[in-house]
Amino acid sequence: MKTKNKILSVILATFMMFNLVACGQNGTSETAGSKSDAVETAGLKNGTYTASQQGHNGPVNLEVSVNEGKISNITVISHSETPGLGDSAMEKLSALMLENNSVNADVIAGATFSSNAIINGVKEALTKAGASEEFLNSGEKISAVTKLDKSEYSYDVIVIGAGGAGLSAAVEAAQNGASVVVLEKTSQTGGNTLVSGGGINIPGSDVQIANGIEDSVEKFIEDTLKGGDNINDKELVGVVANNALDAYNWLVNDIHVEFMQDRIQQFGGHSVPRAVIPVGNKGTEMIKKLETKSKELGVDLYTNTTATQLIVDENSAVVGVYAENDGNKIKFNSNKGVIIATGGFGANIEMRVKYNPAYNEDYKTTCVPASTGDGIIMAEDIGAQLVDMEYIQVYPTCNTQTGIISYVANSRFDGAILINGDGKRFIDEMGRRDIISNAITSQEEKFAYLVWGQEIETVGNMTKVHEKEYKEFVNSDLLHKAETLEELAEFFNIDKDSFVNSINEYNNDIADGSDDALKRGGTLRTISQGPFYIQKVAPSTHHTMGGIKINVQGQVISTEGNIIPNLYAAGEVTGGIHGTNRLGGNAITDIVVMGRIAAQNLTK
Ligand code: ADP
Repeated sequence: MKTKNKILSVILATFMMFNLVACGQNGTSETAGSKSDAVETAGLKNGTYTASQQGHNGPVNLEVSVNEGKISNITVISHSETPGLGDSAMEKLSALMLENNSVNADVIAGATFSSNAIINGVKEALTKAGASEEFLNSGEKISAVTKLDKSEYSYDVIVIGAGGAGLSAAVEAAQNGASVVVLEKTSQTGGNTLVSGGGINIPGSDVQIANGIEDSVEKFIEDTLKGGDNINDKELVGVVANNALDAYNWLVNDIHVEFMQDRIQQFGGHSVPRAVIPVGNKGTEMIKKLETKSKELGVDLYTNTTATQLIVDENSAVVGVYAENDGNKIKFNSNKGVIIATGGFGANIEMRVKYNPAYNEDYKTTCVPASTGDGIIMAEDIGAQLVDMEYIQVYPTCNTQTGIISYVANSRFDGAILINGDGKRFIDEMGRRDIISNAITSQEEKFAYLVWGQEIETVGNMTKVHEKEYKEFVNSDLLHKAETLEELAEFFNIDKDSFVNSINEYNNDIADGSDDALKRGGTLRTISQGPFYIQKVAPSTHHTMGGIKINVQGQVISTEGNIIPNLYAAGEVTGGIHGTNRLGGNAITDIVVMGRIAAQNLTK
């Protein structure tokens, strides 16, 4: 495929600082203003120059080096852009500017502020390096966006959406010998999977066994059905549970996803610790490895390519997809079929309200902006049946300012407790997400405080594992660390006596191994050793349980109850597996298992 500019492979976010150096050139160590042995081409003087520009969430500070008159290094020193979105856009643009030795770059749609911050930051630094006006603003515009140059393409399998379900399906289909294309509407892969914690529930994993945890497929099914109020599609739950271990082995052996061997997490609603955690405790590890594998297998992945319509023939069989790329309508023909893996609709307020008026604009969301239910709408347009659309999950512990899920707040699973504005405990912190979320929004303030001490921090080291997020919360005055409980209460103006009494009562209550007051599940740990932590949290919409009805083969079912030929769906875009409420760690199990199953059946 020919594109105007070489398509950059997606460089996945490190969520921390990143540094890009031009091949074959050494970054210079000279700093701006120092005397330099300037080799001047394009008016640029050798040296390293700093700049700072406002991004979406705060300042983006960067350093640009010039060597032999060319940009030789771009380093983002600090930023607070959205993980998996803004930071990824900045990485892509940095690589593009470096490769082309040009700053005349297009912003990446969906990450305009972060794009402008990096482009203008590099321009600011190069201005200090003596760049001419012409160098900064003229020449051919460079773009990180995939531009397709044909109006029609044909593949065996078309996968819509490059999140966890889509990439799992694409790899599996390619492993089975199919020619595969993945259409992704944003400029990067990953969807909500990328910004998730990546935990995946696997009954019988090597990590469970090594930790002496007894589990079974039956227990997993029982917990999942209980969590979903038993309205789940029991057949589909059975398929997910029975194929979980195989999916895990595939991730480990075929895809080379690395999981932490010393960590197994028990998310709310599970009767035993069951979730294995990828290194980095982020979905990034899985997405990065799936994408690498898909490339190895020759899958074509087109970013900035939005599927808009399913194409059906005279027998109502799906034969392709219309998509939009760079303003052009492109036809993709599918010889075998189409797999819809576009994720949920948590970021589409209008659609949320259509199916459940409670989740209006008052709720922020943890979802990526691309979660707008496109696949559900496209499937419904050709007669697909939708199920459980009213069940929208809210995640209890999110950033009260941005809505983004907090991973530091996963200290809850290690023992942290929730306290309200009156300094009182009010809910079993290990209960279901919907119950905890409703309990929080029922408090006068509509938010709560998560509190923990050293006994809990040392278990999961959440403030270290998620250090960047921790610092952001601290800088936004949403999290405070102190040597005493009194200081924590003072920081948020909570009644000190009430706060300290509640924690002391909790410590005494659980001394006998059970929480008599609120019957908290999971491992109980006291909050008696400093330093202590307090974090302000509130619920955001997180997962949409409803979606396209599928059968155990992953085939899409019509409103009349028939199979729609050649149309499959997998992941959050489908409904039925999670019933009224999805348990933590079950989304990743669902997307990998069902993505693979759809692809296996389609390529059979
Ligand atoms: P899942 O967990 O089910 O895999 P994700 O949210 O991780 O869902 O991924 C869904 C992906 O689908 C996202 O990368 C999103 O940008 C993409 N997507 C959504 N709508 C479209 C569309 N109309 N065309 C192409 N890609 C889409």
